[in-house]
Amino acid sequence: MNKVVFLVLLLSSLAQAYSLKPIQITEHVYVFQGRTEHFSRDNQGDIVNTGFVVTGGGVVILDTGPSLKYGQAMLDAIAAITDEPIVKIINTHHHPDHYFGNQAFEAAPTFATASNQSQMQTNGDGYADGLYYLVGSAMVGTEPAPSQFSLSSGSEKIGNLTLKYHVFTGHTFEDLVIEVVEDNLIFAGDLVFSDRAPTTPHADVELWIKSLDKLSEFDFQYLIPGHGYIASHQNVLQPIDDTKAYLTWLQRHLLSSAENGIHPAQLIADGPASPWDKLGAMPDEYERSISHLYPEMLRNTLQAPVWQER
Ligand SMILES: [Zn+2]
Repeated sequence: MNKVVFLVLLLSSLAQAYSLKPIQITEHVYVFQGRTEHFSRDNQGDIVNTGFVVTGGGVVILDTGPSLKYGQAMLDAIAAITDEPIVKIINTHHHPDHYFGNQAFEAAPTFATASNQSQMQTNGDGYADGLYYLVGSAMVGTEPAPSQFSLSSGSEKIGNLTLKYHVFTGHTFEDLVIEVVEDNLIFAGDLVFSDRAPTTPHADVELWIKSLDKLSEFDFQYLIPGHGYIASHQNVLQPIDDTKAYLTWLQRHLLSSAENGIHPAQLIADGPASPWDKLGAMPDEYERSISHLYPEMLRNTLQAPVWQER
């Protein structure tokens, strides 16, 4: 590495520190709200909503963010709120922005569903390569730390609170949603996005929409999506409806484009339709979805795509 580049990287890594400010949502639940953007060096990967629950019998962490430094910043911020020890870390799914901070929480056990544990073990190094490239020096020291223990649907009492675990499917194979019963709160992970384009690298869009229908039948007052604004009371279902509306549009638009043999480069050039073009992380996330979902749709159309014959 050239000395000037090294110095710039060193100085920027010293200058960078996450300034995480917990937002109290209910009596027991706090959230660190990330920006509604795609990963960048500027945002340091602080693009995700993580949270913690002060149960009266210890703190439960809900997702740990994109890096070791992010996890350490969570620890500092939590220590300013409560003296309770951290007793449990829960990762909603295997995408790196939701578990790469695990490394900071050495003293407490980490949990995810079994399929997410194995995805973390298989994909961790690849995710790390991607994030070091996109986020840069804020990642320094981060090594993937897959969840140690498996967790499945059910409920448990921790301190004075009941946590219910609901396993959905669609965004990934298993999307864990955590309900804090006494606070009428749902921590939805990436099953729900608000004001930010959903990510689709492991998505089954039809199953995802069905899961959103099921979740909207639950009874709750507060909804924390994986990315985007927190909803409550009369607007509590809005992020679910918005996620569903976008996914429905995306699926229909890509399917009809595949049937008409539209070249993927043309889809990218045209960009997402209004109002979806205004969502956070656009057009990046739409372009990523074309690469995730469109090739199979093209293969499934009966006639050869027109663009291949030219
Ligand atoms: Zn995410």
